[in-house]
Amino acid sequence: MVMEQLDSNIKSSKNILLVSHINPDGDTLGSMCAMYSLIKDNYKKTCDMCVVSKVPEVYSFLPNIDKVKNIEDFDLSREYDLVINLDVAAIDRCADAKILFDKAKKTVNIDHHGTNDGYADINIIEPFAAATSEALFGVAQSLNWKISKDTAICLYTAIVTDTGCFKFSNTTARTMEFAGKLLKNGINPSEIYQKCYESNSKDMVLFQSYCINKAQFLNDDKIVYTIVYKKDLEKYNNNGEDFTDGLTEKLRAIVSTEIAFVVKELNSGASKVSMRSKSFDIAQVCVALGGGGHKLAAGALIKANPEKAVKMILNEIENRKLC
Ligand code: AMP
Ligand code: MN
Ligand code: MN
Repeated sequence: MVMEQLDSNIKSSKNILLVSHINPDGDTLGSMCAMYSLIKDNYKKTCDMCVVSKVPEVYSFLPNIDKVKNIEDFDLSREYDLVINLDVAAIDRCADAKILFDKAKKTVNIDHHGTNDGYADINIIEPFAAATSEALFGVAQSLNWKISKDTAICLYTAIVTDTGCFKFSNTTARTMEFAGKLLKNGINPSEIYQKCYESNSKDMVLFQSYCINKAQFLNDDKIVYTIVYKKDLEKYNNNGEDFTDGLTEKLRAIVSTEIAFVVKELNSGASKVSMRSKSFDIAQVCVALGGGGHKLAAGALIKANPEKAVKMILNEIENRKLC
């Protein structure tokens, strides 16, 4: 039913906007660019694509990423026939693109976060999908959409990045099956791996080493966290590149770690927390702090300085007696 609704709305819409989430990752960008080529190849329509923060340099290889525009370059009074959000767990995760979303005649929400409340007219939310692109591949299959090599590169990149190269617990037999099908479209998995994981700048690796070096360990080293300050980021000269990408996973990789988190000081003075766990449900911790995510990978934006944010996070962990 939802698939038919999506199909008929794409068919009847003259102008379509695709939206990704703030601090975009491989899944939101890969799913958005995949949707762009899926609609182009199967409906002969071009869509607008929107980001609300800078596209990390590592994803510049994605087909059609050059067509993505920043929200600042959009006319916010425009009424789109259809707006499709991809990997946007909550409507405030797409910042000012919400203005265009609210004005649209019809809205779609394709996602895989269990905390997604189904805020659109048409909601395709698969909490058991490893990535939004896995859910999107399912949509493409059920609507018999043609999948080009460009689409396959985008869908595969999104799956690879959200599963940490098929090693996170969200990886299922279906994830592997879909990835296998994408390989049949002529993509090169080792090339995509290299682009995503072996393309970090020297400054980024040195910065992350510095952050790991000053990490704090609590509760017999079960909890580990580090704070990323603006002044440190400036010292390491990051040109808008997300120097914290993958940092929380490195802290989780320590044998004693049960819960790892990184608190980043934002320009506004607020803090962004990125949290990972090996087995405890930390989505609930982040929901309590105004955020959301998955059981083992979640995040939140906290309106407090980093030190205060750390106290609030530790409090929420302690309240739940997680570890
Ligand atoms: P991150 O640590 O930023 O990679 O985020 C981990 C997971 O939590 C991702 O799946 C995000 O989509 C989700 N997430 C992060 N921040 C928020 C937030 N403020 N609200 C809802 N979900 C979030
Ligand atoms: Mn995402
Ligand atoms: Mn995702």
